[in-house]
Amino acid sequence: MKNEPQPRMVYVAQPSLPPLEDFMPYLEKIWSSRILTNNGPFHQQLERALCEYLGVAHISLFANCTIGLVTALQALRITGEVITTPYSFVATAHSLLWNGIKPVFVDVDPDTLNLDPDKIEAAITPQTTAIMPVHCYGHPCDVKRIEQIADNYGLKVIYDAAHAFGVRCDDASVLQYGDLSVLSFHATKVFTTFEGGAIISPDAKTKKRIDHLKNFGFVDEVTVVAPGINGKMSEVNAAMGLLQLKHIDAALEKRRVIDTMYREGLASVKGVRCVNDAGESRANHAYFPIMVEHPNYPMSRDQLYQVLKERGIYARRYFYPLISDFPMYKGLPSAARDNLPVAARASSQVLCLPIYAELDLDVVERTIQLIRHPW
Ligand SMILES: *Cc1c(COP(=O)(O)O)cnc(C)c1O
Repeated sequence: MKNEPQPRMVYVAQPSLPPLEDFMPYLEKIWSSRILTNNGPFHQQLERALCEYLGVAHISLFANCTIGLVTALQALRITGEVITTPYSFVATAHSLLWNGIKPVFVDVDPDTLNLDPDKIEAAITPQTTAIMPVHCYGHPCDVKRIEQIADNYGLKVIYDAAHAFGVRCDDASVLQYGDLSVLSFHATKVFTTFEGGAIISPDAKTKKRIDHLKNFGFVDEVTVVAPGINGKMSEVNAAMGLLQLKHIDAALEKRRVIDTMYREGLASVKGVRCVNDAGESRANHAYFPIMVEHPNYPMSRDQLYQVLKERGIYARRYFYPLISDFPMYKGLPSAARDNLPVAARASSQVLCLPIYAELDLDVVERTIQLIRHPW
């Protein structure tokens, strides 16, 4: 038959939504109570449920991760310079600029693509007050070494944990490391509230301060203790989180199956390397990044990206361009290419393949075959 219908474009991430009718009872409660936001019942319930699910003691929900990062820096009164990674989503460094802080970019480790602990100390100056690493693709940073460096130099550590929902490290949540960790619940992330995020605090006092900061600095009706922001999560988003939480384990299991399929299917392809260890039980399979190593592989990453796109598979070049190449950063001395050779190479080779709970396994197989035989 001619004029076969084009298969629908497959995206790299797609939120898994429970049946709409399952959401209705939550909406009915919101409609009848008229409590739409400001630490309502669903908000409180989701904070408790996430503490339990993630294995952390104190969590503050946010409207999104970016406001969470900005607030985390405010809460710890971070100033001057902060050491961070160029190999991330722009929001990581933007949160520093929004606080008038100078980002200092340090190169990443070639295996994990996380901040390279061996290179952190050389970037510390008298102005340095903190380190902001990212658990890239949900792979835990070298949390112990980062902690040691931070302790030696009297620095704070704020983890951008946007990719690290549910990730564990040494049998505990990776979110317990550092002074604060910030999650994202954006629509493209493993766990979503449409838009949303959260800060994990080590103690009740810190959580309280963060809760004030996300609510304009209000402590009670007449007391404002800080120039806070509006970072609150609404009841509709919190309700979505409670519903998502019921399905999260099943969704993670489906991601694991897809991860294994890709890994096995691509293992023998010359010039294609799957990033990070196989079969980690602690992983959340948030992304499936491969490195396309031309000329060992017969075409460049960008050519493969095009080939897949023309066949309806929209893989993404996360993270390209590097944060340090965007105009507001590239004038910084630490943004120079020769300071960041590993990140620059990764950025030119990486391709994140589609992975999400509802992804058809036939599409995974087709993607593997296309990568094996790109022409
Ligand atoms: C998605 C993402 C963010 C931003 O999260 P929002 O909830 O969209 O604000 C920040 N950092 C990283 C590494 C991300 O992937």
